[in-house]
Amino acid sequence: MTPATDIAYPHLFAPLDLGFTRLRNRVLMGSMHTGLEDHARDFPKLAAYFAERAEGGAALLVTGGFAPNVVGWLAPFGSKLSWPWEVRRHRQVTAAVHGHAAKICMQLLHAGRYGYHPLQVAPSKLKAPINPFTPRALSARGVERHIADYARAARLAREAGYDGVEVMGSEGYLINEFIAPRTNQRTDAWGGDAARRMRFAVEIVRRIRETCGPDFIIIYRLSLLDLVEDGSNWQEIVQQAKAIEAAGATIINSGIGWHEARVPTIATSVPRAAFAGVTAKLKPHVGLPLIATNRINMPEVAEAILAAGGADMVSLARPLLADPQWPNKARAGKADAINTCIACNQACLDHVFQNKRASCLVNPRAAHETELVYRPTSAPKRIAVVGAGPAGLACATVAAERGHRVTLFDAAGEIGGQFNVAKRIPGKEEFHETLRYFRHKLVETGVELRLGTVAGTETLTGFDEVVVATGIVPRTVDFPGANHPMVVSYLDVLLGRVRAADKVAVIGAGGIGFDVGEFLVHEGESPSLDPARWMAEWGVDPDFEARGSLARPRPEHPARHVWLLQRSPGKPGARLGKTTGWIHRATLKAKGVKMLGGVEYLGVDDAGLRIRVDGSEQLLDVGTVVVCAGQEPRRELADALRAAGRSVHVIGGADVAAELDAKRAIDQGSRLAAEL
Ligand code: FAD
Ligand code: NAP
Ligand code: SF4
Repeated sequence: MTPATDIAYPHLFAPLDLGFTRLRNRVLMGSMHTGLEDHARDFPKLAAYFAERAEGGAALLVTGGFAPNVVGWLAPFGSKLSWPWEVRRHRQVTAAVHGHAAKICMQLLHAGRYGYHPLQVAPSKLKAPINPFTPRALSARGVERHIADYARAARLAREAGYDGVEVMGSEGYLINEFIAPRTNQRTDAWGGDAARRMRFAVEIVRRIRETCGPDFIIIYRLSLLDLVEDGSNWQEIVQQAKAIEAAGATIINSGIGWHEARVPTIATSVPRAAFAGVTAKLKPHVGLPLIATNRINMPEVAEAILAAGGADMVSLARPLLADPQWPNKARAGKADAINTCIACNQACLDHVFQNKRASCLVNPRAAHETELVYRPTSAPKRIAVVGAGPAGLACATVAAERGHRVTLFDAAGEIGGQFNVAKRIPGKEEFHETLRYFRHKLVETGVELRLGTVAGTETLTGFDEVVVATGIVPRTVDFPGANHPMVVSYLDVLLGRVRAADKVAVIGAGGIGFDVGEFLVHEGESPSLDPARWMAEWGVDPDFEARGSLARPRPEHPARHVWLLQRSPGKPGARLGKTTGWIHRATLKAKGVKMLGGVEYLGVDDAGLRIRVDGSEQLLDVGTVVVCAGQEPRRELADALRAAGRSVHVIGGADVAAELDAKRAIDQGSRLAAEL
């Protein structure tokens, strides 16, 4: 690679010559399903979504997955490209991207046994543990027909103006199911030893190359880490990469972990670039450009991987949802201006798994580009925003960006509200980045910041609009002994005002209860900052050699004995994030935390916390009881303003505290500011 010399991150912005075409830099926008792919009527929105990312400077974009036939659907009537009349809608997307001098590949994704419908097929009749449907095993003729379907879909993609396709060969979808012994028990020419299991993948690439010609990009997403039992071993992965190269692929992208894997691969607690080492390990074995992926969210992380020669490109998927201008900002040396993906999954993956359109917690415009527009105002106003938590920060910066004169008040000495508490949880270090982004954005948009100022009705005279974003107060409990000195609030513990005893009961198992559990069982540096410790805890083979790259998990000794309690019956944590709840539950379980539902709190005294579960009384001999019993809106200011006859806008926790999270707070603040 010849690094560019005149810009920040020179390796990241060196062009990549693919022989028949050239990429302007090393940023690939990784494939993400947004939900806009599924209906022809949404393609104008999809085109606007990609246009913003192309304009933002990414070199090569990859669409969400399109199935090559009906049985390959992810869900009934999901995205697919198999008929000539489906081509036209895609031209809006490809034209939009080419208008900004970027290139775009369509991802070909056959869901295999992950298809959420009864038509699904797989190499063998083996049900996935995460899907209620059992697949039909493909016949040998069916396999041949599938290869032809992939080639036809690639040809149609070329007709639609795509620069290439990405063949999804990882994450446990159909092709990966052929490759791994876990899911391929065939005894015909498509099963058996590694060479026969990978033949399906190789034939697909070979046939696409034959059909689409030499000047068509074929990215092959190769599962470098299956992270499931009976996945591929390293020798087979290298053999597969060489065969895929020989079959005519242009680039190999890294695939990390099947969807059914019990090792987190993209959550916020996964260390940055945790898996880049496995891409680097493959580098000496193939001549094709390789793409590193997963938890690469800031330019210095990407640059370090490329500068060390561990990959030729980096894949940014969620980071470009969070900030379409990521590449342009990095190129200009303005990393501080990047709205960083905090890997929460709350508005992207969680939405997709709930069949809702994806968006982004820190950027509610993501996949809503034509609907949520921050137009410059023609009538600038003086606006006061009270509360610099996520809701107030979003509202103030969007309003100021539109041209209003905004003053932002906070009683605290720093911006951030509850994010200053959340950032202290081990595994939530990324929350610092959101605060850094907003600090920068306040200056950039010219918001007048008044910290250390408790705003009252008299402070707020002379403004055209007043926005109250004063957040919440923690809910208190009222069982006997609730005022015992050992009973404290989560704020006391997380802000370091109280040091918890060796045995602790946590009352309330919502998001904050689980976070407090994580805080209590860890001591010292967070494992999320140390990939080696993190891999040992989760059982990833540090040498990436073993089958599935799995090793025996070695959780570190918990710092405390913790009980996590809730009154409602059932398993605590059932309401946590769709794609991350299991990670929180597994972490605490590995640390020996006892999680109990259906608990009645009888009282606290010097001996500890008395509870009743399943009709029997127990004494938990704890020295600290941490109350995480939810939150109530902080509305004194809004009420006082209204009593004084003033009109106010109330957002975030001050509006509705129940089930409030930062996604709703930022979304509500941004949407209000777009209309002021
Ligand atoms: P807040 O963040 O509460 O901010 C309100 C601000 O108003 C405060 O800074 C306060 O000082 C200020 N204020 C109040 N009254 C006045 C006044 N009169 N004058 C001036 N200033 C005033 N959410 C997620 O989505 N994902 C997570 O993973 C997540 N993790 C969390 C972990 C923890 C430990 C905690 C505590 C919260 C977490 N949350 C998470 C919740 C999220 O932080 C809140 O939903 C969000 O901060 C609410 O935003 P807000 O702006 O409404 O209020
Ligand atoms: P929460 O999710 O509403 O949970 C509150 C818990 O307290 C529940 O377990 C509830 O269960 C219990 N509770 C309620 N009233 C009680 C009472 N009077 N006495 C005893 N227990 C009581 O609230 P939270 O945990 O405080 O979280 C606040 C918000 O922050 C949430 O909306 C959450 O989405 C957000 N957050 C999100 C994340 C994330 O990772 N996405 C992390 C942290 C916080 P029972 O009634 O069954 O006891
Ligand atoms: Fe990243 Fe969270 Fe936004 Fe998804 S919702 S892109 S994980 S910040």
